[in-house]
Amino acid sequence: ALRQELVELDKKYFIHPTSSLQDQQANGPAIIFDKAEGVHVWDLNGKKYLEGMASLWNVNIGYGRKELAEVAKEQLEKCGYVSSFTGFSNEPAIRLAAKVAEMTPGDLNGVFFTSGGSESNDSAYKLVRHYWKVKGKPEKTKIVARKRAYHGVASGSTSATGIESFHDFTTSLAPGFVHVDPDSPEAFRKLIEEEGADTIAAFLTEPIQGAGGVNLPKEGYLQEIRKICDENDILFIADEVINGFGRTGKMFACEHYDIVPDVLLLAKGISSGYVQLGAVVLREKLHKELIELSPGVLMHGFTYSGHPTACAVGLKNIEIMENENMVENSRVMGDLLAEKLTELQKETDIVGEVRHLGLLGAVEIVKNQETGERFAEKVTPKIVAAARERGLILRNVVYWEKDTIVYSPPLCMTEEDVNEFASILKEAVLEVQKSL
Ligand code: PLP
Repeated sequence: ALRQELVELDKKYFIHPTSSLQDQQANGPAIIFDKAEGVHVWDLNGKKYLEGMASLWNVNIGYGRKELAEVAKEQLEKCGYVSSFTGFSNEPAIRLAAKVAEMTPGDLNGVFFTSGGSESNDSAYKLVRHYWKVKGKPEKTKIVARKRAYHGVASGSTSATGIESFHDFTTSLAPGFVHVDPDSPEAFRKLIEEEGADTIAAFLTEPIQGAGGVNLPKEGYLQEIRKICDENDILFIADEVINGFGRTGKMFACEHYDIVPDVLLLAKGISSGYVQLGAVVLREKLHKELIELSPGVLMHGFTYSGHPTACAVGLKNIEIMENENMVENSRVMGDLLAEKLTELQKETDIVGEVRHLGLLGAVEIVKNQETGERFAEKVTPKIVAAARERGLILRNVVYWEKDTIVYSPPLCMTEEDVNEFASILKEAVLEVQKSL
Protein backbone atom coordinates (compact mmCIF):
# COMPACT_ATOMS: atom_id res chain seq x y z
CA ALA A 1 0.00 0.00 0.00
CA LEU A 2 2.87 2.37 0.83
CA ARG A 3 4.52 1.53 -2.46
CA GLN A 4 1.35 2.14 -4.43
CA GLU A 5 0.79 5.48 -2.72
CA LEU A 6 4.37 6.57 -3.49
CA VAL A 7 4.14 5.44 -7.10
CA GLU A 8 1.01 7.54 -7.64
CA LEU A 9 2.56 10.62 -6.01
CA ASP A 10 5.78 10.09 -7.97
CA LYS A 11 3.86 9.91 -11.26
CA LYS A 12 1.89 13.01 -10.43
CA TYR A 13 4.55 15.34 -9.03
CA PHE A 14 8.14 14.16 -9.46
CA ILE A 15 10.02 15.23 -12.60
CA HIS A 16 12.97 12.85 -12.70
CA PRO A 17 16.46 13.78 -13.92
CA THR A 18 17.64 12.16 -17.16
CA SER A 19 14.56 9.95 -17.47
CA SER A 20 11.81 9.33 -19.98
CA LEU A 21 8.90 11.56 -18.91
CA GLN A 22 6.42 9.41 -20.82
CA ASP A 23 7.69 6.17 -19.35
CA GLN A 24 7.50 7.76 -15.92
CA GLN A 25 3.87 8.76 -16.55
CA ALA A 26 2.94 5.33 -17.80
CA ASN A 27 4.75 3.13 -15.32
CA GLY A 28 6.04 5.19 -12.40
CA PRO A 29 9.39 4.35 -10.85
CA ALA A 30 10.60 0.76 -11.33
CA ILE A 31 12.31 0.67 -7.96
CA ILE A 32 11.79 2.78 -4.85
CA PHE A 33 14.88 2.39 -2.70
CA ASP A 34 14.47 2.03 0.99
CA LYS A 35 17.77 1.24 2.72
CA ALA A 36 21.38 0.35 1.97
CA GLU A 37 24.45 -1.21 3.54
CA GLY A 38 27.96 -1.80 2.14
CA VAL A 39 27.59 -2.59 -1.57
CA HIS A 40 23.91 -3.52 -1.29
CA VAL A 41 20.63 -1.61 -1.53
CA TRP A 42 17.09 -2.79 -0.76
CA ASP A 43 13.82 -1.68 -2.34
CA LEU A 44 10.48 -1.14 -0.61
CA ASN A 45 9.48 -4.76 -1.26
CA GLY A 46 12.59 -5.93 0.59
CA LYS A 47 14.37 -7.07 -2.56
CA LYS A 48 18.17 -6.84 -2.29
CA TYR A 49 20.48 -5.62 -5.04
CA LEU A 50 24.24 -5.34 -5.44
CA GLU A 51 24.74 -1.72 -6.53
CA GLY A 52 27.18 -2.30 -9.40
CA MET A 53 27.20 1.43 -10.22
CA ALA A 54 27.62 2.75 -6.65
CA SER A 55 24.41 4.58 -7.65
CA LEU A 56 25.75 7.25 -10.04
CA TRP A 57 29.44 6.30 -9.84
CA ASN A 58 29.57 8.11 -6.53
CA VAL A 59 29.03 6.06 -3.37
CA ASN A 60 32.73 5.20 -3.21
CA ILE A 61 33.07 4.16 0.44
CA GLY A 62 29.82 2.18 0.30
CA TYR A 63 26.48 2.62 2.02
CA GLY A 64 25.37 2.89 5.61
CA ARG A 65 28.45 4.47 7.20
CA LYS A 66 27.10 5.76 10.49
CA GLU A 67 30.21 7.93 11.06
CA LEU A 68 29.04 10.18 8.23
CA ALA A 69 25.58 10.46 9.75
CA GLU A 70 27.17 11.27 13.10
CA VAL A 71 29.42 14.10 11.83
CA ALA A 72 26.52 15.51 9.83
CA LYS A 73 24.27 15.47 12.91
CA GLU A 74 26.97 17.01 15.07
CA GLN A 75 27.66 19.78 12.56
CA LEU A 76 23.96 20.43 11.89
CA GLU A 77 23.36 20.83 15.61
CA LYS A 78 26.43 22.99 16.19
CA CYS A 79 26.06 25.20 13.15
CA GLY A 80 24.09 23.87 10.18
CA TYR A 81 25.16 26.57 7.81
CA VAL A 82 27.30 29.68 7.58
CA SER A 83 28.50 31.46 4.47
CA SER A 84 32.12 31.57 3.38
CA PHE A 85 31.69 34.81 1.45
CA THR A 86 33.74 37.95 2.16
CA GLY A 87 35.53 37.59 5.47
CA PHE A 88 33.61 34.54 6.68
CA SER A 89 34.82 30.98 7.05
CA ASN A 90 34.24 27.75 8.98
CA GLU A 91 36.41 24.95 10.31
CA PRO A 92 35.14 21.99 8.24
CA ALA A 93 35.61 23.95 4.98
CA ILE A 94 39.09 25.12 6.02
CA ARG A 95 40.18 21.62 7.01
CA LEU A 96 38.72 20.00 3.90
CA ALA A 97 40.43 22.57 1.66
CA ALA A 98 43.75 21.81 3.36
CA LYS A 99 43.14 18.06 3.09
CA VAL A 100 42.24 18.20 -0.61
CA ALA A 101 45.29 20.39 -1.30
CA GLU A 102 47.53 17.90 0.52
CA MET A 103 46.17 14.78 -1.18
CA THR A 104 45.86 15.99 -4.80
CA PRO A 105 48.85 15.54 -7.14
CA GLY A 106 51.77 17.96 -7.47
CA ASP A 107 51.22 21.55 -6.42
CA LEU A 108 47.43 21.56 -6.82
CA ASN A 109 46.52 23.54 -3.74
CA GLY A 110 43.86 26.22 -4.19
CA VAL A 111 40.40 24.79 -3.48
CA PHE A 112 37.06 26.33 -4.51
CA PHE A 113 34.00 24.41 -3.27
CA THR A 114 30.82 23.65 -5.22
CA SER A 115 27.83 21.37 -4.70
CA GLY A 116 28.48 18.99 -7.59
CA GLY A 117 30.23 18.19 -10.83
CA SER A 118 28.34 20.52 -13.15
CA GLU A 119 29.06 23.44 -10.84
CA SER A 120 32.72 22.40 -10.66
CA ASN A 121 32.90 22.42 -14.45
CA ASP A 122 31.14 25.73 -15.02
CA SER A 123 33.19 27.30 -12.23
CA ALA A 124 36.43 26.10 -13.81
CA TYR A 125 35.53 27.53 -17.22
CA LYS A 126 34.80 30.91 -15.64
CA LEU A 127 37.93 30.84 -13.51
CA VAL A 128 40.31 29.95 -16.33
CA ARG A 129 38.75 32.53 -18.65
CA HIS A 130 39.01 35.12 -15.88
CA TYR A 131 42.63 34.09 -15.37
CA TRP A 132 43.48 34.81 -19.02
CA LYS A 133 41.53 38.04 -18.87
CA VAL A 134 43.55 39.38 -15.94
CA LYS A 135 46.73 38.14 -17.65
CA GLY A 136 45.88 40.55 -20.47
CA LYS A 137 44.66 37.86 -22.87
CA PRO A 138 40.87 38.23 -22.85
CA GLU A 139 40.56 36.55 -26.24
CA LYS A 140 41.75 33.22 -24.80
CA THR A 141 38.25 31.85 -24.16
CA LYS A 142 37.71 28.60 -26.03
CA ILE A 143 37.40 25.37 -24.08
CA VAL A 144 38.46 22.35 -26.11
CA ALA A 145 36.78 19.11 -25.02
CA ARG A 146 36.75 15.57 -26.38
CA LYS A 147 34.00 13.80 -28.25
CA ARG A 148 32.23 11.20 -26.04
CA ALA A 149 33.00 13.35 -22.96
CA TYR A 150 30.47 13.97 -20.20
CA HIS A 151 30.89 17.07 -18.05
CA GLY A 152 27.43 17.86 -16.70
CA VAL A 153 24.24 19.70 -17.53
CA ALA A 154 24.71 23.36 -16.57
CA SER A 155 24.89 25.69 -19.54
CA GLY A 156 28.69 25.46 -19.86
CA SER A 157 29.11 21.83 -18.90
CA THR A 158 26.36 20.58 -21.21
CA SER A 159 28.10 22.53 -24.00
CA ALA A 160 31.44 20.95 -23.08
CA THR A 161 29.83 17.50 -23.10
CA GLY A 162 30.68 15.61 -26.29
CA ILE A 163 27.70 13.24 -26.43
CA GLU A 164 25.33 14.42 -29.16
CA SER A 165 22.05 13.53 -27.47
CA PHE A 166 22.69 16.14 -24.79
CA HIS A 167 23.16 18.79 -27.48
CA ASP A 168 20.16 17.65 -29.51
CA PHE A 169 17.99 18.11 -26.43
CA THR A 170 18.60 21.80 -25.88
CA THR A 171 19.03 25.24 -27.39
CA SER A 172 20.93 26.32 -24.24
CA LEU A 173 24.35 25.68 -25.70
CA ALA A 174 26.95 28.28 -24.80
CA PRO A 175 29.48 29.59 -27.34
CA GLY A 176 33.19 28.90 -27.04
CA PHE A 177 33.26 25.10 -26.83
CA VAL A 178 35.04 23.01 -29.44
CA HIS A 179 35.15 19.22 -29.63
CA VAL A 180 38.05 17.17 -30.93
CA ASP A 181 38.67 13.55 -31.82
CA PRO A 182 38.96 11.82 -28.44
CA ASP A 183 42.01 9.68 -29.19
CA SER A 184 44.33 11.76 -31.32
CA PRO A 185 46.71 14.40 -29.95
CA GLU A 186 47.31 15.34 -33.58
CA ALA A 187 43.69 16.45 -33.90
CA PHE A 188 44.32 18.86 -31.01
CA ARG A 189 47.50 20.16 -32.66
CA LYS A 190 45.63 20.72 -35.90
CA LEU A 191 42.84 22.52 -34.07
CA ILE A 192 45.38 24.83 -32.41
CA GLU A 193 46.82 25.64 -35.83
CA GLU A 194 43.38 26.39 -37.23
CA GLU A 195 41.92 28.33 -34.33
CA GLY A 196 45.11 29.86 -32.91
CA ALA A 197 46.50 29.15 -29.44
CA ASP A 198 45.69 32.74 -28.51
CA THR A 199 41.95 31.90 -28.68
CA ILE A 200 42.11 28.77 -26.53
CA ALA A 201 41.81 28.96 -22.73
CA ALA A 202 41.98 25.30 -21.84
CA PHE A 203 41.85 21.67 -22.84
CA LEU A 204 39.27 19.79 -20.77
CA THR A 205 39.21 16.04 -20.27
CA GLU A 206 38.16 13.19 -18.04
CA PRO A 207 41.36 11.10 -17.81
CA ILE A 208 39.12 8.04 -18.26
CA GLN A 209 35.82 8.91 -19.88
CA GLY A 210 32.99 7.62 -17.70
CA ALA A 211 29.47 8.12 -19.05
CA GLY A 212 30.81 7.97 -22.63
CA GLY A 213 31.53 4.25 -22.08
CA VAL A 214 34.53 3.93 -19.73
CA ASN A 215 37.06 4.76 -22.43
CA LEU A 216 40.66 4.43 -21.31
CA PRO A 217 43.05 6.90 -22.96
CA LYS A 218 45.30 5.54 -25.69
CA GLU A 219 48.89 4.90 -24.59
CA GLY A 220 50.69 8.23 -24.16
CA TYR A 221 47.63 10.29 -25.12
CA LEU A 222 47.23 12.32 -21.92
CA GLN A 223 50.98 12.93 -21.56
CA GLU A 224 51.10 14.23 -25.13
CA ILE A 225 48.10 16.50 -24.52
CA ARG A 226 49.80 17.83 -21.38
CA LYS A 227 52.89 18.60 -23.49
CA ILE A 228 50.90 20.34 -26.23
CA CYS A 229 49.15 22.47 -23.60
CA ASP A 230 52.52 23.52 -22.14
CA GLU A 231 53.95 24.35 -25.57
CA ASN A 232 50.96 26.52 -26.44
CA ASP A 233 50.15 28.25 -23.17
CA ILE A 234 46.86 26.38 -22.84
CA LEU A 235 45.62 25.23 -19.43
CA PHE A 236 44.89 21.53 -18.81
CA ILE A 237 41.68 20.82 -16.88
CA ALA A 238 41.17 17.25 -15.63
CA ASP A 239 37.57 16.36 -14.78
CA GLU A 240 37.94 13.64 -12.14
CA VAL A 241 34.35 13.85 -10.97
CA ILE A 242 34.05 10.08 -11.56
CA ASN A 243 37.76 9.16 -11.70
CA GLY A 244 38.78 10.78 -8.42
CA PHE A 245 38.80 9.43 -4.87
CA GLY A 246 40.00 5.92 -5.52
CA ARG A 247 37.67 4.88 -8.32
CA THR A 248 40.53 3.81 -10.64
CA GLY A 249 42.78 2.15 -8.06
CA LYS A 250 44.77 5.31 -7.33
CA MET A 251 43.46 8.27 -5.38
CA PHE A 252 43.35 10.30 -8.62
CA ALA A 253 43.48 8.95 -12.16
CA CYS A 254 46.07 11.56 -13.23
CA GLU A 255 48.55 9.65 -11.04
CA HIS A 256 48.38 6.67 -13.45
CA TYR A 257 49.70 8.91 -16.20
CA ASP A 258 52.17 11.02 -14.21
CA ILE A 259 50.50 14.24 -15.16
CA VAL A 260 49.53 17.19 -13.02
CA PRO A 261 46.61 19.17 -14.44
CA ASP A 262 46.46 22.94 -13.97
CA VAL A 263 42.90 22.56 -12.75
CA LEU A 264 41.36 19.45 -11.19
CA LEU A 265 37.57 19.02 -10.97
CA LEU A 266 36.05 16.94 -8.20
CA ALA A 267 32.61 15.90 -6.91
CA LYS A 268 30.88 12.52 -6.37
CA GLY A 269 33.51 10.52 -4.40
CA ILE A 270 34.58 13.58 -2.37
CA SER A 271 31.56 12.89 -0.16
CA SER A 272 30.67 9.44 -1.52
CA GLY A 273 27.36 11.01 -2.46
CA TYR A 274 26.11 11.25 1.13
CA VAL A 275 25.80 15.03 0.71
CA GLN A 276 26.15 17.41 -2.25
CA LEU A 277 29.77 18.49 -2.63
CA GLY A 278 32.29 19.27 -5.34
CA ALA A 279 35.52 21.22 -5.78
CA VAL A 280 37.75 22.99 -8.26
CA VAL A 281 41.44 22.69 -7.39
CA LEU A 282 44.02 25.06 -8.89
CA ARG A 283 47.76 24.66 -9.16
CA GLU A 284 49.85 26.94 -7.01
CA LYS A 285 51.02 29.17 -9.87
CA LEU A 286 47.47 29.72 -11.10
CA HIS A 287 46.16 30.30 -7.61
CA LYS A 288 48.95 32.79 -6.82
CA GLU A 289 48.61 34.67 -10.07
CA LEU A 290 44.86 34.96 -9.60
CA ILE A 291 45.48 36.52 -6.19
CA GLU A 292 48.13 38.88 -7.54
CA LEU A 293 46.40 39.93 -10.74
CA SER A 294 42.78 39.87 -9.60
CA PRO A 295 42.68 42.21 -6.60
CA GLY A 296 38.92 42.97 -6.80
CA VAL A 297 36.09 40.71 -5.68
CA LEU A 298 36.00 37.17 -7.12
CA MET A 299 32.54 37.59 -8.64
CA HIS A 300 31.78 33.90 -8.52
CA GLY A 301 30.45 31.82 -5.63
CA PHE A 302 27.50 29.68 -4.65
CA THR A 303 25.43 29.98 -1.47
CA TYR A 304 26.66 26.49 -0.67
CA SER A 305 30.36 26.92 -1.53
CA GLY A 306 32.12 25.62 1.57
CA HIS A 307 28.94 24.36 3.26
CA PRO A 308 30.07 23.32 6.75
CA THR A 309 27.93 20.18 6.96
CA ALA A 310 28.87 19.01 3.47
CA CYS A 311 32.56 19.65 4.19
CA ALA A 312 32.42 17.84 7.55
CA VAL A 313 30.94 14.80 5.80
CA GLY A 314 33.55 15.06 3.02
CA LEU A 315 36.38 15.06 5.55
CA LYS A 316 35.05 12.00 7.37
CA ASN A 317 34.49 10.24 4.05
CA ILE A 318 38.14 10.76 3.05
CA GLU A 319 39.32 9.66 6.48
CA ILE A 320 37.40 6.38 6.15
CA MET A 321 38.67 5.85 2.61
CA GLU A 322 42.27 6.27 3.79
CA ASN A 323 42.01 4.37 7.07
CA GLU A 324 40.41 1.37 5.40
CA ASN A 325 42.76 1.30 2.39
CA MET A 326 39.88 1.53 -0.03
CA VAL A 327 42.02 2.86 -2.87
CA GLU A 328 44.22 -0.23 -2.73
CA ASN A 329 41.10 -2.37 -2.43
CA SER A 330 39.73 -0.70 -5.56
CA ARG A 331 42.86 -1.77 -7.44
CA VAL A 332 42.89 -5.35 -6.12
CA MET A 333 39.16 -6.01 -6.40
CA GLY A 334 39.05 -4.15 -9.71
CA ASP A 335 41.64 -6.53 -11.18
CA LEU A 336 39.87 -9.56 -9.74
CA LEU A 337 36.46 -8.49 -11.03
CA ALA A 338 37.83 -7.74 -14.50
CA GLU A 339 39.55 -11.14 -14.54
CA LYS A 340 36.26 -12.88 -13.75
CA LEU A 341 34.37 -10.85 -16.31
CA THR A 342 37.03 -11.66 -18.92
CA GLU A 343 36.24 -15.36 -18.33
CA LEU A 344 32.77 -14.60 -19.71
CA GLN A 345 34.41 -14.28 -23.11
CA LYS A 346 34.84 -18.08 -23.01
CA GLU A 347 31.73 -18.92 -21.01
CA THR A 348 29.37 -17.01 -23.30
CA ASP A 349 29.22 -16.26 -27.03
CA ILE A 350 28.54 -12.53 -26.82
CA VAL A 351 30.95 -10.96 -24.35
CA GLY A 352 33.64 -8.99 -26.15
CA GLU A 353 36.24 -6.61 -24.76
CA VAL A 354 36.41 -6.10 -21.00
CA ARG A 355 38.36 -3.02 -19.97
CA HIS A 356 38.90 -1.44 -16.61
CA LEU A 357 41.11 0.54 -14.29
CA GLY A 358 40.41 -0.21 -10.65
CA LEU A 359 36.68 -0.50 -10.07
CA LEU A 360 35.76 1.51 -13.16
CA GLY A 361 35.02 -0.84 -16.02
CA ALA A 362 33.09 -1.77 -19.13
CA VAL A 363 31.98 -4.95 -20.89
CA GLU A 364 31.27 -4.89 -24.63
CA ILE A 365 28.52 -7.09 -26.03
CA VAL A 366 29.23 -8.33 -29.54
CA LYS A 367 27.72 -10.56 -32.19
CA ASN A 368 31.11 -11.82 -33.24
CA GLN A 369 33.79 -12.25 -30.60
CA GLU A 370 36.54 -12.49 -33.24
CA THR A 371 35.78 -9.35 -35.21
CA GLY A 372 34.02 -7.33 -32.50
CA GLU A 373 31.03 -6.79 -34.79
CA ARG A 374 28.00 -5.77 -32.74
CA PHE A 375 24.34 -6.71 -33.05
CA ALA A 376 22.14 -4.45 -35.19
CA GLU A 377 20.04 -3.65 -32.14
CA LYS A 378 21.41 -2.96 -28.70
CA VAL A 379 21.47 -6.05 -26.50
CA THR A 380 22.82 -4.42 -23.35
CA PRO A 381 19.47 -3.01 -22.15
CA LYS A 382 18.18 -6.58 -22.03
CA ILE A 383 21.20 -7.77 -20.09
CA VAL A 384 20.97 -4.87 -17.66
CA ALA A 385 17.28 -5.71 -17.11
CA ALA A 386 18.02 -9.43 -16.63
CA ALA A 387 20.80 -8.61 -14.17
CA ARG A 388 18.54 -6.28 -12.25
CA GLU A 389 15.89 -8.98 -12.03
CA ARG A 390 18.56 -11.18 -10.42
CA GLY A 391 19.69 -8.46 -8.02
CA LEU A 392 22.58 -6.65 -9.74
CA ILE A 393 22.30 -3.00 -10.77
CA LEU A 394 24.31 -2.03 -13.84
CA ARG A 395 24.02 0.50 -16.61
CA ASN A 396 24.26 0.36 -20.37
CA VAL A 397 25.65 3.21 -22.41
CA VAL A 398 22.64 4.36 -24.40
CA TYR A 399 24.17 7.05 -26.51
CA TRP A 400 27.25 5.64 -28.11
CA GLU A 401 27.83 3.43 -31.08
CA LYS A 402 29.00 0.53 -28.98
CA ASP A 403 26.82 -1.89 -27.06
CA THR A 404 28.44 -1.36 -23.70
CA ILE A 405 27.68 -2.24 -20.09
CA VAL A 406 29.51 -0.04 -17.60
CA TYR A 407 30.20 -0.74 -13.94
CA SER A 408 31.46 1.21 -10.97
CA PRO A 409 30.67 -0.53 -7.67
CA PRO A 410 31.56 0.80 -4.20
CA LEU A 411 35.26 0.58 -3.36
CA CYS A 412 34.59 -1.43 -0.18
CA MET A 413 33.76 -4.45 -2.34
CA THR A 414 34.91 -7.85 -1.00
CA GLU A 415 35.87 -10.99 -2.88
CA GLU A 416 32.46 -12.40 -2.04
CA ASP A 417 30.81 -9.35 -3.64
CA VAL A 418 33.02 -9.78 -6.72
CA ASN A 419 31.84 -13.38 -7.06
CA GLU A 420 28.20 -12.39 -6.63
CA PHE A 421 28.61 -9.65 -9.27
CA ALA A 422 30.31 -11.94 -11.80
CA SER A 423 27.94 -14.87 -11.34
CA ILE A 424 24.79 -12.73 -11.69
CA LEU A 425 26.15 -11.04 -14.80
CA LYS A 426 27.03 -14.43 -16.28
CA GLU A 427 23.49 -15.75 -15.72
CA ALA A 428 22.01 -12.58 -17.20
CA VAL A 429 24.20 -12.77 -20.30
CA LEU A 430 23.43 -16.48 -20.82
CA GLU A 431 19.69 -15.87 -20.50
CA VAL A 432 19.71 -13.04 -23.01
CA GLN A 433 22.05 -14.93 -25.35
CA LYS A 434 19.49 -17.75 -25.55
CA SER A 435 16.79 -15.32 -26.64
CA LEU A 436 18.78 -13.77 -29.51
N1 PLP B 1 31.81 15.47 -14.86
C1 PLP B 1 31.78 14.15 -14.98
C2 PLP B 1 33.00 13.45 -15.50
C3 PLP B 1 30.65 13.42 -14.59
O1 PLP B 1 30.62 12.09 -14.75
C4 PLP B 1 29.54 14.12 -14.08
C5 PLP B 1 28.32 13.39 -13.65
O2 PLP B 1 28.14 12.22 -13.89
C6 PLP B 1 29.60 15.51 -14.00
C7 PLP B 1 30.75 16.15 -14.39
C8 PLP B 1 28.43 16.30 -13.53
O3 PLP B 1 28.27 16.16 -12.16
P1 PLP B 1 26.87 16.48 -11.45
O4 PLP B 1 25.87 15.51 -11.97
O5 PLP B 1 27.20 16.30 -9.98
O6 PLP B 1 26.52 17.89 -11.76
